[in-house]
Amino acid sequence: MMAAITAAECGARVTLYEKNPILGKRLLMLETEDFAYTHGGDVEQLVEGFSRGGEFLYPALIRFSNQAWIGYLEKLGLKSISVEDRFLPETGKPEDLVNLLSDELKKRGVEVKISTKTQDLLVSRKKIQGLVAHNLEAKYDRVILTTGGLARPKTGSTGDGLSFAEKLRHNIIPTFPGLVPLKTLEKLGNELPGAVLKKVKLTLFVDKERQESVFGKVKFVSGAIAGPTILAMSGKVNRLLSESKSVEISLDLKPDTPREHLEEWFKAEAEKGLNVSVGDLLHTFIPGRMIPVVGRFSGARVYKGYFALSSLEKKALLIVVKDMRFNITGSGSYQDALVTSGGVDLSEVDIDTMESKLVKGLYFAGEILDIEGKTGAYNLQAAFSTARTAAEAAAKTTKRVVKKKATVKKTTTKKAKKATKKATA
Ligand SMILES: Cc1cc2nc3c(=O)[nH]c(=O)nc-3n(C[C@H](O)[C@H](O)[C@H](O)COP(=O)(O)OP(=O)(O)OC[C@H]3O[C@@H](n4cnc5c(N)ncnc54)[C@H](O)[C@@H]3O)c2cc1C
Repeated sequence: MMAAITAAECGARVTLYEKNPILGKRLLMLETEDFAYTHGGDVEQLVEGFSRGGEFLYPALIRFSNQAWIGYLEKLGLKSISVEDRFLPETGKPEDLVNLLSDELKKRGVEVKISTKTQDLLVSRKKIQGLVAHNLEAKYDRVILTTGGLARPKTGSTGDGLSFAEKLRHNIIPTFPGLVPLKTLEKLGNELPGAVLKKVKLTLFVDKERQESVFGKVKFVSGAIAGPTILAMSGKVNRLLSESKSVEISLDLKPDTPREHLEEWFKAEAEKGLNVSVGDLLHTFIPGRMIPVVGRFSGARVYKGYFALSSLEKKALLIVVKDMRFNITGSGSYQDALVTSGGVDLSEVDIDTMESKLVKGLYFAGEILDIEGKTGAYNLQAAFSTARTAAEAAAKTTKRVVKKKATVKKTTTKKAKKATKKATA
């Protein structure tokens, strides 16, 4: 929608093809309380919000920044509010954004073809010629592919654009579900789903070797671990698993107490009260429903007092508190994923225009590209910034023709009209 509006703003004649019977289905399906359309950081922070493609996005994020996006929406009548570091409509409703963009499409004279699936692209001599939809060929000299990835196929994103690009010999970086819960070998039991660890240290181990450590929130869901930090790792973890690497995630449940001081802490706290169990002490830093799980992982009798534990139990307890290790076996599917990790190889896309380096007149924007942001409204900003960049570049020729038309209007209106290019998003 953004690509079509922008191209029309720039003076192009635009047709938008959408295979769903409605526009913006993905946005309309978003949970209202989680929805945000941009992150509030500066460009550097935005770039850092991407585990894949951040550097590539830099020019697009400068060209159409989060502030520009918020200002753009405000000009059209949609006020934003910030919640923590994200921006969303004042009303909190994703449909307000969809309605606003739909109105803008109408105002800008974009021809919208809903329930119209693009079946193929027409290319000749490495130049775009148009597309096929409803088994009919339609001629266009610019096409912007914004067909998304493979996440949440029910919203219409089933990888069609990736197939078109691959057919045109674009390299597709293998795709995996991204921003998705990770499944563990360890049985999490019935107690854990719903438990949240607000601030733990997570360390990734690949083939037993320690990799990066990050602080973050962890959420347990049925048979899997989630939460923003785990989700952000998921695309990378899926990639590692596909290479037959072993992946473990270690949780330090009490990151503010160094390992060498933990025993002292348990002793000092246990001495304060006669009837205090290990479970009570654990409950000062982990949710109650995790206590039996720590007991299971360590073999320590958590219902006993600390001094009643054997030295073996104490040792195992201290290890589990500082290094609760999960073997990762896989992730949720594309049905569960928020985004797609992987996509059109960025080295084959012009960073300043989003134009394909292999096919002239073909542009890419959004999730079809090999970009992957963390949760925090980075992904929609990337979609809007790349759409704006692609559409401005795609409409450039049209714009030149329109200007030319204006200056020669008196003498050669017909000729200029003929020269006006068509563009499609
Ligand atoms: C549950 C959920 C919550 C999310 N919340 C947020 C959030 O709060 N903030 C955020 O920044 N990001 C969020 N995301 C991610 C965000 O939705 C995506 O990054 C973004 O929608 C990608 O935009 P896109 O236009 O590239 O692709 P999509 O939104 O997937 O749109 C692609 C469109 O192309 C159409 N299409 C596909 N193939 C064809 C074809 N052959 N012919 C015609 N039309 C076709 C599809 O029907 C679809 O409408 C969330 C994702 C999910 C699943």
